Amino acid sequence: MAGAGRGLVLVVEDEAAIAEVIELYLRRDGFDVRIESDGESALTAWQQLQPVAVILDIGLPGRDGADVCRTMRAAGDWTPVLFVTARDDEVDRLLGLEIGADDYITKPFSPRELAARVRTVLRRTTTPFPTGRPPDDVAPGGEVLSVGDVRVDLGRRRAWAGEVEVSLTSTEFELLAQLFRRPGRVFERDELLSSVWGYQSAAGTRTVDVHIAQLRAKLGETSPIRTVRGVGYAADRDG
Ligand code: CA
Repeated sequence: MAGAGRGLVLVVEDEAAIAEVIELYLRRDGFDVRIESDGESALTAWQQLQPVAVILDIGLPGRDGADVCRTMRAAGDWTPVLFVTARDDEVDRLLGLEIGADDYITKPFSPRELAARVRTVLRRTTTPFPTGRPPDDVAPGGEVLSVGDVRVDLGRRRAWAGEVEVSLTSTEFELLAQLFRRPGRVFERDELLSSVWGYQSAAGTRTVDVHIAQLRAKLGETSPIRTVRGVGYAADRDG
């Protein structure tokens, strides 16, 4: 248990060899690691240990990874969840509202990249509270940006569509804030991927599209996000 204080990552993976490699890289990165190999014990460990992040294999004995993540989200827990999946066609569902993962990596993957993504997901979730309940230690009244009828409070990491507060995941918040910092400017997908997710991968631009779709669904008619076909997205004052 010689972690360097970066916190405990729960790794849920039923293939021992893969779990060991993930553990090795995370420990090198200064994380403590707990490995579980099925969905039930993953949920028990999640409740008892309160990990800083969870890496979930999708295919597990018993309750699968999607079920584990859905259970966490239903309980109001927005701990960063990163999926390991062999199937690219599941990605939209995993990142979507129903399951609510933060990121994914497809098998076969580089453990180095996986560890980098855990760091990234933690960096952008240092003050998460998508439930709208600000933690006590967050400074009130941060810088507020608004575009059209949508406002974001950067300090408190809260967003409103008109007078209604919108519950955003930390990733959605970061993406919206990025667009709002320069209204009218068109951000390319690659650019958003590197500024919000902190890495570059051509395949990963789909992640951007999925999260934009979620943001729009949550903001409803007030959404100021414009698609620039073949390029990317912008937040426009005129909607
Ligand atoms: Ca598996």
